[in-house]
Amino acid sequence: MAKFFVKDLNFEKNIGANSLSLKVGAFHFLVDAGMDPKRLGNEALPKLKGIPKNSVDFILLTHCHLDHLGSLPIVMKQQTKAQVLVSYPTQLIAPFMLENSYSVMCRQKDEKGISEYPLFTKDDIAQVAKKFFPVKYGQTYVLKKEDQQANITFFEAGHVLGASSVLIEHEGRKLFITGDILFSDQNSLRGAHIPQLQDLDVVIMETTRGATERKASRRNEEERLIKTIAKTIKNGGACLIPAFALGRMQEMLVLLYEAKKANKLPDCPIYCSGLGMALVSVFDEIGKTSPYLNFSRQILKKLNVKSMRRKKIDPKTSTLKSPAIYLLSSGMLVEHTPAYNVAACLLNNNKNSICFVGYCDERTPGGQLLQAKHNSTFRFEEINFSTKIRAKIDRFDLSGHADRDELCEFIHAQQPKKVVLTHGEEASREWFMARFSKQERSCSVLDPEVGKSYCL
Ligand SMILES: [Zn+2]
Ligand SMILES: [Zn+2]
Repeated sequence: MAKFFVKDLNFEKNIGANSLSLKVGAFHFLVDAGMDPKRLGNEALPKLKGIPKNSVDFILLTHCHLDHLGSLPIVMKQQTKAQVLVSYPTQLIAPFMLENSYSVMCRQKDEKGISEYPLFTKDDIAQVAKKFFPVKYGQTYVLKKEDQQANITFFEAGHVLGASSVLIEHEGRKLFITGDILFSDQNSLRGAHIPQLQDLDVVIMETTRGATERKASRRNEEERLIKTIAKTIKNGGACLIPAFALGRMQEMLVLLYEAKKANKLPDCPIYCSGLGMALVSVFDEIGKTSPYLNFSRQILKKLNVKSMRRKKIDPKTSTLKSPAIYLLSSGMLVEHTPAYNVAACLLNNNKNSICFVGYCDERTPGGQLLQAKHNSTFRFEEINFSTKIRAKIDRFDLSGHADRDELCEFIHAQQPKKVVLTHGEEASREWFMARFSKQERSCSVLDPEVGKSYCL
């Protein structure tokens, strides 16, 4: 029987530059080709050096977050014969994300003095798009190499529009990759749809929330968020919701719309910006025909959404409209984004609130703001501006990743012989190691060292 080999190409055990080399008999797959959003230049790339030129047959792209997609144009220059298997939404969304990444790199080239930027060109993005092969969820595709055959099936993984889990079948052995996965439904996107799979040999599982215990249900968190926003608006304040452009911004629009329909949200202008707005047209297009996405551009009209440019927002000279909701990227308040400048404008007023609704790395301005004390001074380095923290700062657990207990239930139900941990920090993996060794005696667990090849 042919062997499977896995090698994690990330440079550390973290949610950074995700990429897995997977050898399945004669086939060489690459699962994702990410770029670490917190690093700069070539430092942000996965360890691709050990992958010989033109050795990869197929790239399985699970979804369009940059930690999975960001280095794809660079990989494709080395792997010119590889086809990229994607879901239909991923095929549409990926070029937007890569173009945005290209623009950011062009700007950072001078600002931060990174000579190698941009790491790819617009033409490279166009070349990548040509290699996309869109697959339908739930449909099995037969891949052939030499005298061997591998069957590939994509399933909806929740998480974000287009996100996929992947089943690989080869000579009677089965390997399942969760990708980034969310089982529960969001307002805009239904949760993962994975059938009961028989005789699974291996599950490669994300572990993002292994170190996080869920304290409140998703619905309760949504209610609390809407109440916080409504209270802010009623008091005449402004509310900033920093949101990732892909998925979270559209999800928040649907949530606000549902709240408005239910009379839970007072009338006020809503400002949005940037890439998230550009992606609305893709979401609208997919929403017309897909059973899994609840989104239409009509929502923007019904909510009276106005667009906003970062250039106009200077905390030293401008005052922002209030009451109002500012739904802006970036989700982590990184520099050079509308959310960063709006936060600087709103921080000094106790009528205002800033509501974080997604993952926030502690090294980013958003992460630092969440750790800072009320009434202390906060510095916005990039725009040379300091102000007191008087606004209400809160965070809401609306993660796009499955809870650790849900992942344990999934593994318990699917009964694979082996679980391989990926996409998580050390503490997250340790939690799963401990839990599985206690509760899943018939299943072995592997926490692979990065850069090391393992036979599965
Ligand atoms: Zn993701
Ligand atoms: Zn991820």
